[in-house]
Formats: sequence, C-alpha cells, structure tokens
Amino acid sequence: MNRLAGKAALVTGAGRGIGAAIALAFAREGAAVVLAELDPDAAQRTAAQIEAQIGAGARVLAVQTDVTQAASVQHAVSEGERAFGALDVLVNNAGINVFCDPLTMSDADWRRCFAVDLDGVWNGCRAVLPGMVERGAGSIVNIASTHAFKIIPGCFPYPVAKHGVIGLTRALGIEYAPRNVRVNAIAPGYIETQLTHDWWNEQPDPAAAKQATLALQPMKRIGRPEEVAMTAVFLASDEAPFINASCITVDGGRSALYHD
Ligand code: NDP
Repeated sequence: MNRLAGKAALVTGAGRGIGAAIALAFAREGAAVVLAELDPDAAQRTAAQIEAQIGAGARVLAVQTDVTQAASVQHAVSEGERAFGALDVLVNNAGINVFCDPLTMSDADWRRCFAVDLDGVWNGCRAVLPGMVERGAGSIVNIASTHAFKIIPGCFPYPVAKHGVIGLTRALGIEYAPRNVRVNAIAPGYIETQLTHDWWNEQPDPAAAKQATLALQPMKRIGRPEEVAMTAVFLASDEAPFINASCITVDGGRSALYHD
C-alpha cells in the first residue's frame, strides 16, 4: 500500500478493462488519478468504483478525453494539474483493435488505428513531457501489446501501430533520460476485457474461438486486467528508478513459446 503516495497520475482509456484496473490499483496505492476517457459514463463508473474502494480519501477526477485530439489530451492534463498539482505519472492505455487484411483494408481503417493506437500515445507524451522535463521527474507507461513484436495474420495494421509504440517508448526514454523522465512500455498478451470478448464474438463460433485462445496459453488461462495493473504500479513507482526505455511483457509466457 501507498507505493504511489503523493503522486498524481493520468490514465487514458480508464473507463473499463486494463485502464480501469490501472486507475483502481493506482488509487489503492495512494495516487490521485485523472481518468481521461472517451465515454463519460464509463469514466464515472470507474470513479465510483474508486470512491467505493478508497472511501472519503479518494482523489479522482474524470475528464472526457479523446486521445486522437492533442487539444483534448492537453485539456485533461490541465484539468488534472488544476485538481492535483503536477502530474508525476502518465499511462497511455487507450487503444483499439483494428484487424484487417492488408490489401482489402480501407484508408479509414488505417487512419483510425494509427489515430488512437500511436498518435494517441504521442499526444499523451507531448502533453506531459514539458512539465516532467522541467521538474526533472516523471514516469510514462505506454500500454503496447505482444503484437509489438509478434504477428498474427489478419490483424493488420494493429501490430504496426504497436511496434510504433515501442519505438516511441525507446526514443523518448533515451531523449529524456538525462532529465530523469522514464518512459517504459508494457506488452500484455491476451487479457480478459471487453476488447477480447468483442473479438471472440466476431468469430464464426465464439465459444470455439475462446477455447482455441485458452489452449494456446502455457498457463491455460488468459490474463486479468489487474495483472497488467500490478506491473504499471511498479513502473510508475519509485521501485523502478533505473528501468527506462524498456518493455515488460505480461503474457504468462506465451510469446516465449515456439510451439507445443
Ligand atoms: P477496452 O476496449 O476494454 O478499453 C479501452 C478503453 O479505451 C475504453 O474505455 C475506450 O472507450 C477507451 N478509448 C478508446 N478510444 C479512445 C479514445 N480515442 N480516447 C480515449 N479513450 C478511448 O480495451 P483493453 O482494456 O483491452 O485495452 C487497453 C489497452 O491494452 C489497449 O491499448 C490495447 O491495445 C492494449 N492491449 C489489450 C490486450 C487485451 O487482450 N485486452 C492485449 C494487449 C494489449 P470506449 O469504450 O468509449 O471506446
């Protein structure tokens, strides 16, 4: 407990799934949390969960945010600073699946994917970095994916954007290391969220698709959002002062497996 005491953090896409779990874990560890989420009702649900868990001491602010719009992200950062002071931590979590065949994909799908999954991460970094650089302290955690270094056919161009998230993480991590700003990534494997259920439900036989996913996992289960959140707490905290420009994989070992 209190591993993030005194810190203020902004989490994008905090209305559900991994982002909501990260926001809850951060609040449990004593951080003030800005929920920067597209869907205001979802953000309010996360805020209510935090308030129910933490009680009167909870410091949480929901700000409707579209990560594809730089001004919207900047607004969320400004609101967060007004409420809680300087932001110590940013988690760029908001992301969408865009899974296409490269040659039949529309231009709109390509742009939609990059707007959220890569521009969104840059918009977050761009909004907090000047303050972090000036103060000589900060931790940015970008939620990438195992698609950032492994390819599944038919999932184009999501992995291209996620490879970009790792590139952005490494480039900014090196750029601002002399100013004590750490930029790291987490690469989750299959995690049970709405995103994963949506994907199963789009398959011709959703139950069979789910079984096939589970069968692929060395631990014979997929991950829980809370298991990604634990790693985000670690990277955000002062327990990881010399971890920078890195990526931690949270996939139960799946990406290390060649084949059964
Ligand atoms: P979910 O779809 O469950 O949650 C994503 C949240 O982000 C939603 O609340 C969504 O809001 C919000 N969001 C989407 N677009 C925007 C936007 N433009 N601006 C602000 N918020 C937005 O996803 P997960 O929790 O599963 O995924 C979170 C991250 O983890 C993503 O980056 C994803 O790529 C990554 N990831 C997930 C994996 C998994 O198996 N689940 C595996 C590897 C990586 P709304 O509902 O209104 O769209």
